[in-house]
Amino acid sequence: MDFALSEEQELLQQSARDFLARECAPTVVRQTMATPEGYSPALHQKMAALGWTGLVIPEKFGGLGLGLLDLAVLCEELGRAAVPGPFFATAVLGALSLVHARGATAQQKLWLPQIAAGEALATLAVSEGEPCPTPAAIRTRCTSTRSSFRLSGTKLFVPDAHVADLIVTAARTRGRDADGVCLFAVPRDTPGVTVRPLPDVDQTRRPCAVELRDVELPKSARLADEPAGWRALSRVTDAACVTIAADSLGGSQRALEMAVDYARTREQFGRPIGSFQALKHMAAEMVSEIEPARSLVWYAAYAYDHEPRRAGLAAAMAKARLTDIYSRTTNRAVQMHGGIGFTWEHDMQLWFKRALWNRTAFGDAVFHRERVATLSV
Ligand SMILES: Cc1cc2nc3c(=O)[nH]c(=O)nc-3n(C[C@H](O)[C@H](O)[C@H](O)COP(=O)(O)OP(=O)(O)OC[C@H]3O[C@@H](n4cnc5c(N)ncnc54)[C@H](O)[C@@H]3O)c2cc1C
Repeated sequence: MDFALSEEQELLQQSARDFLARECAPTVVRQTMATPEGYSPALHQKMAALGWTGLVIPEKFGGLGLGLLDLAVLCEELGRAAVPGPFFATAVLGALSLVHARGATAQQKLWLPQIAAGEALATLAVSEGEPCPTPAAIRTRCTSTRSSFRLSGTKLFVPDAHVADLIVTAARTRGRDADGVCLFAVPRDTPGVTVRPLPDVDQTRRPCAVELRDVELPKSARLADEPAGWRALSRVTDAACVTIAADSLGGSQRALEMAVDYARTREQFGRPIGSFQALKHMAAEMVSEIEPARSLVWYAAYAYDHEPRRAGLAAAMAKARLTDIYSRTTNRAVQMHGGIGFTWEHDMQLWFKRALWNRTAFGDAVFHRERVATLSV
């Protein structure tokens, strides 16, 4: 297997890096973080104009019809720049929930072109407090009448739900296992839906609580019924794991570069601190963790598109490993910066805190290592 990126993917990587260096420097990240919405509609529009929000949306719905590897390449750059806002919620979670909702063509026709054009924001509501996405953790109830569905429950840590036009929601019609799970398209302005942003250490994202109180939906709102609901959801959460791993890869690389730059220029005892072995070892450890992990991300994205039977295992491996590496790398980078690296004024905190979000979202490393053990036998 050839593990190199294609020419088009390298072009996407370079153009994304250049664009984000111009449009989303750390000063912009800080300004955006300070707004109540936590995102810049202008930047989102520009990303949509570049085709990014429709990258994995089929061409017939206005997207570019590319694969998860292309999206992972892009997400690595977004992580590198610590881009704030609902790109992940919309272009990964929302878009792929709809793409995998086979049989819900009306909803696809309604939402996917708007998402691709940057006119609508979307997200996915799965978690209800448990740290890991399992079927039993979905307790939001769905009851059915002759003409409608009615949803009741509380979803937690829903990324950027406060600005999402569409909240794809997992609910259950029966039992406690995967067979009872369905997916629904819930417009945020539906009566009975209340969204409350939750305080979080990473201010480049806005996790929210979404309360659904007797939310009445037409029959056409069901994106996937049982048992297809859990299958579709598993595909989307695997994609979430791969793209979070890619974001972690980009963030780790950036933290390493910042730490090495600092060690080269900051002088102590009459020489750059990078000349001391203690710091060289730390930098070498970062490189030796980051470089081999790149292939885990690329393979997981490739498997998602081409080897669906191995996709879950590869996604779990990438998520566990890369988020561990991201935490360790940002930790070491803060140490290499000394006292200044710990402060609010220094930009290293942006990546340090984003690593914390990446670590827990969609299951932590312990959960994914257990998945790896189960899926490997
Ligand atoms: C919140 C906070 C709590 C703290 N608590 C304590 C505490 O409880 N006790 C305490 O003693 N200090 C404490 N400090 C101070 C901390 O130990 C210093 O910040 C640290 O010594 C780094 O110094 P500096 O900021 O001047 O970094 P710099 O001197 O700029 O050094 C940058 C990096 O290079 C490393 N470095 C510098 N010179 C060498 C060398 N010769 N060989 C190898 N590596 C080198 C430093 O360790 C650091 O990682 C605290 C600082 C903060 C921000």
